[in-house]
Amino acid sequence: MSDFRGLPSVDQLLRTSQAEEMTAAYGRSLTLDALRAALDETRERIKTQAIETPDQQAILASAGRMLEAWVRPSLVRVINASGVVLHTNLGRAPLSRAALQAIRDTSEGYSTLEYDLEKGARGSRSVHAEALLRRLTGAEAALVVNNNAAALLLCLSALARSKRVVIARSQLVEVGGGFRIPDVMRQSGARLVEVGTTNRVHLRDYEDALEEGVALVLRAHHSNFKIIGFTTEADLGEIVEAAHRRDVPVLDDLGSGALLDTAAYGLAHEPTVQESLASGADLVCFSGDKLLGGPQAGIIVGKAGLIEKVKKHPLARAVRADKLCLAALSATLVHYLKGEAAAEVPIWRMISAGLEGLGARAARWQEALGCGSLLEGRSTVGGGSLPEETLPTILYALEVPQPNRFLRLLRACEPAVIARVQDERVVFDPRTVLPEQEEALLDAIRNAIYQVRPNLHRGTL
Ligand SMILES: *Cc1c(COP(=O)(O)O)cnc(C)c1O
Repeated sequence: MSDFRGLPSVDQLLRTSQAEEMTAAYGRSLTLDALRAALDETRERIKTQAIETPDQQAILASAGRMLEAWVRPSLVRVINASGVVLHTNLGRAPLSRAALQAIRDTSEGYSTLEYDLEKGARGSRSVHAEALLRRLTGAEAALVVNNNAAALLLCLSALARSKRVVIARSQLVEVGGGFRIPDVMRQSGARLVEVGTTNRVHLRDYEDALEEGVALVLRAHHSNFKIIGFTTEADLGEIVEAAHRRDVPVLDDLGSGALLDTAAYGLAHEPTVQESLASGADLVCFSGDKLLGGPQAGIIVGKAGLIEKVKKHPLARAVRADKLCLAALSATLVHYLKGEAAAEVPIWRMISAGLEGLGARAARWQEALGCGSLLEGRSTVGGGSLPEETLPTILYALEVPQPNRFLRLLRACEPAVIARVQDERVVFDPRTVLPEQEEALLDAIRNAIYQVRPNLHRGTL
């Protein structure tokens, strides 16, 4: 028989000064939950581990730890020293100052989300980013939804439910996180008509399929992989011509949706939204938080009649963009309109950072920490864009006994630092570290070094 007689009651615990503090900090209900849970846990340990009855202080301390853990946010900032600019696991694109300010300005209080100030009556949330998108891309109309997966699902549902949609076999892509183009097509109720082979898809493959009667032709950007060797894919302009001869619209899922030319930054050319529209695509959809460098969003631009149809579909309401997204997206688009995107949008600043500046930053870290070395390396763009493409960078490198343990120590810091291992060294890429995070980065590295080698003096790691 276990002996619980020595245990305090919840009421006894509640009357302690510690519990009073907990109640003030966390509220009475949550504190009660924690005290009960701490008592339960203690009873369990008495039963199973035959421990001595712990004193009241130990139970209170355990409740305090629970409370702390229960309210600690799990979605917290990290320092990305990995060199992957659009790191999907780390939240893709960091926002510009103007975008953050816009979120704050419109969300701290009320906003004109669906209100027309002139008329003093209900307005439409679709006016905000859409005028900017029309101006930027020259498209007749635009629509912003929750993300690009939703954009694709919505377009297919509105335009091709129970109808045939043509897509090249080479474009049946899995984008990441289990998101597969063919699954989305099926989900929309569209009937998939695959044409061509994995490596070669000719214009006549499309023409043959179009003869059978279809509602839509979908082109999907490969995004995160490359087909090399004996390959062909019909040109978007040619596909559009063939489709339009039969009055069939073409939807181009661009994925990353660059508005600037990546080739100007030493990378392969990523198809731009403007090019897609110029090739005659009737609708183009892309993400807001990939190469656009804005908030999570799915953006659809193109012909007014089709956008109108898409807007009216019931799913449009289910996947609509919220005010935080619209505020941040509008501010981001304005950077492009003003021709200041490369300087103001964080991911473009990162992509355009030169070797000299990167090297100087890595050298400053080396000097500040008094150890480590500089190493040539490669950054990547990521975010399902520009596969195999890298940018030259200068890494700050530390030789430590157990690199993976060191990475773990860095992740335990606040803010956590995400670095990587190259040539058995822990390396930090200045490209993806925001300048205002540098001090916190150095503190984290110092802390990790101290834990690995507490007795070592500066400069002798
Ligand atoms: C990334 C991507 C998507 C999904 O976009 P999300 O904004 O992540 O939903 C869809 N299609 C392609 C081609 C992509 O690259």
